[in-house]
Amino acid sequence: MVDWYAKNGRPLPWRKTKDPYLVLVSETMLQQTTVASSLPYYERWVERFPDVGSLASADIDEALVYWAGLGYYSRCHRLHEIAKLATFAGWPKGEGWQSLNGIGPYTAAAMASICDGLPFAAVDGNVERVYARVCADPESGSRLKSAAKRWSEANMPKDTPGEWNQAVMELGATICRPRGPKCLECPIQGHCQAFRDSSQGRLPTPKPKPARIDIDMSIHIRVHKMHFGLIKLESNWWKGLWGFPIVEQLDTGPAARLSGSFSHVVTRHRIKFTVWLEALESCSPEFVWVHPIELHKYALPAPFTRAAKLAETKLLETV
Ligand code: SF4
Repeated sequence: MVDWYAKNGRPLPWRKTKDPYLVLVSETMLQQTTVASSLPYYERWVERFPDVGSLASADIDEALVYWAGLGYYSRCHRLHEIAKLATFAGWPKGEGWQSLNGIGPYTAAAMASICDGLPFAAVDGNVERVYARVCADPESGSRLKSAAKRWSEANMPKDTPGEWNQAVMELGATICRPRGPKCLECPIQGHCQAFRDSSQGRLPTPKPKPARIDIDMSIHIRVHKMHFGLIKLESNWWKGLWGFPIVEQLDTGPAARLSGSFSHVVTRHRIKFTVWLEALESCSPEFVWVHPIELHKYALPAPFTRAAKLAETKLLETV
């Protein structure tokens, strides 16, 4: 497996280093985000914050600008806090990774194996899938995760645990894919029970999906002389980021005009946003007034960037 990975692994920038800071940035970005989506964010981030000291000394508002669009903004806050801690206390080792706020079992194992060379199995969805198929295990949820961890630790070469973890994840991402696994190219085909009994398509057993929650929200954008009124958001999802006032139901009054609507998914919530635009005669001090071409300097979550674009289009139509 490790040999296969050395020859076939994708040459991703975070795989060229064992620097805990760079590995942690990549692992944090890759949670819930694909490699293709994370890559441009990682490259921009590392250009601006090339080492732990540069992130620790930066303002969180600037870090959020570089994170904006990735979602899960609390991770950016935690990364920033960890960077500040690491600059005076140093990096933990082994089990110590889990003592950091926001570092779960998967990330702790990835860090300990890649950066410290310790035999901890990092189990994500890719590893669970490879294990479930190789061993034809019909379990799901936490039982599947525990079994996959035991399997990975039992098979892990003790001198290259980091490479092993990355190899199994890479195999899951590129060969043992959720749909259409490329079994004829698989280096462990000869050990795979699912291949022998053609049960790949049924494994792993799907977890029951939590019910989706539909929400309606209105975004209320105030504009004064082609400048939008920004506020710091208070919502849990976007706390500390910049945006526009949001309410579940808006009594807009006659002054507000409809700019459009769109849907956006956050965790298991599907939010239908309706965007209202209201021209003000004077610029109220409760807002920070920003021209649309300057908005990229503020950390706006994706739905607010989209709302701003709708509002800008509406404004230009009326000029
Ligand atoms: S043989 Fe097929 S199902 Fe088995 S591990 Fe390889 S890709 Fe996955």
